[in-house]
Parts: sequence; C-alpha cells; structure tokens
Amino acid sequence: MGLSLFTGEAWAREGVEVGKESAFAKLVPAAEVENSAMQQYQQMLQQAASKNALGPDGHPQVVRLRAIANKIIPHSYDWNPRARQWKWEINLIGSNQINAFCMPGGKIAFFTGILNQLSLTDDEVAMVMGHEIAHALREHARERMGKSAATQGLSRLGGAVVSGLFGIDPRLTDMVAREGANLLTLKFSREDETEADLVGMELGARAGYDPRAGVTLWQKMSAANKNAPPQWLSTHPSGTTRIQEMEANMPKVLPLYERTR
Ligand SMILES: [Zn+2]
Repeated sequence: MGLSLFTGEAWAREGVEVGKESAFAKLVPAAEVENSAMQQYQQMLQQAASKNALGPDGHPQVVRLRAIANKIIPHSYDWNPRARQWKWEINLIGSNQINAFCMPGGKIAFFTGILNQLSLTDDEVAMVMGHEIAHALREHARERMGKSAATQGLSRLGGAVVSGLFGIDPRLTDMVAREGANLLTLKFSREDETEADLVGMELGARAGYDPRAGVTLWQKMSAANKNAPPQWLSTHPSGTTRIQEMEANMPKVLPLYERTR
C-alpha cells in the first residue's frame, strides 16, 4: 500500500470491516441487558460451585484463560467504549460440554470440554474467546432482544417500545427480564456469527495470537460434530462459507499479528 499520506486511504482503519451495529439494539437499554447477564452469570457460578465444578483461581487452565483474556481485553475498547467499565470475569466450568460464551458485560465462561476434547492451543483458545467477546462487544444479545421488543411491541406492547427509546419502560424491562433468562442459550444469526468470527480474529491478532488458528478451530469443531454435536454449535450456527470468509480476511489481520512478534 505504501505511504499515501495525501489520500484518504492513509486514514482507513486497519483490520476487518463490519457494518454498523443494528439499530434494534438501541430499543433496549444496555445497562438492563448487562444487569440481567450479570445475575445469570452469578447464578451459573453458584450452581457450578455447589457441584464442585467451578475451576479454582489457581487451576492451571483458569490461570491460562485469564492470561489470554488479559491480553485481548485492552483491544476491545475500540469496538465498544462501555467495555472499559465492564467488570470482566473469566471462569472455567467443569463439564464435558464443548462450549464457551461471553455474556453481555464481559462475563466469560469456558467449559473444560472445549479445552480438552478439542485439545485447543493458546491461539485457538484466543480465537474462541475473541469470537465470544465480539458477540458481547457488538451487542448481539441486545440486538436480539431489541428485535423481540419490536415484534412484541407491534403485537402486544404497543407504545412500550417507543417509550423504551426515551427511557426504561416497566413493561419493556419485564420483557428484557424474560428474554434475559435465555442469555445462556441465545442463538445468534449467521450474520452475527460472521461478524463475531472476523472481529474475534482481529482482537486475537492484536493481542498476539495467530489468526490462522480460527481456521483450525473450525476444522476441529466440524470433526467433533461428526461424533456428538458440540453444544457450542447449537448456539453458534455454522455457515458453509465460514472458513472461506475467515481466509478472505486473513490479509487484513495477519499484519496485526506479525507486528506483535
Ligand atoms: Zn458465535
């Protein structure tokens, strides 16, 4: 590309290109979604702890996950300024499920199943984590709730959605609470998945992890799918073009990774 100081190109953002955030997200207050997520996350941790299935602070895999997260998180602020204030948490759940998530507000969990059954390298862990963090940063859960609010608003809530735009309507808050109950099993759209793949690769690359691991991760996930479908795939629908899209975007993220080395 060269040094093109006198063209607009010089000011183009480095990294992947994704569209604007969905306007639907704005229909529900971010703080409501994040609060709801925080409560569910705490419940999940308590349940895990009561079954002796919560990874203790000194567990090598917990230490490993938190070290990777600490490298990725500082790169998240550019994607969503709220992330700077999030009380990020990273925990390990003892379960054979091939699963991981990052709830709104930066509440991350990995299941031992995804680490062990897929024998994930640090680069691959970073790609899973980046992908999950990208869902949270791009507020895909909030967008889904906004879409529900819009649909329900037209049929049942009436003016609640509109008033929700200007403040927290009690009826809308109820809706968020009900929808919020499903934050752990929220299924994302194909478009959101592609966006999470690309933003996740960039986050990982900037943090010093090889974005090509996004491709090997998917190959492992597909291979596991032939035996018992990973839980992760049920909430993160796979597009057939997923690996192709990641490869097409590799030239945009590889230089970011190489610069960290
Ligand atoms: Zn996803």
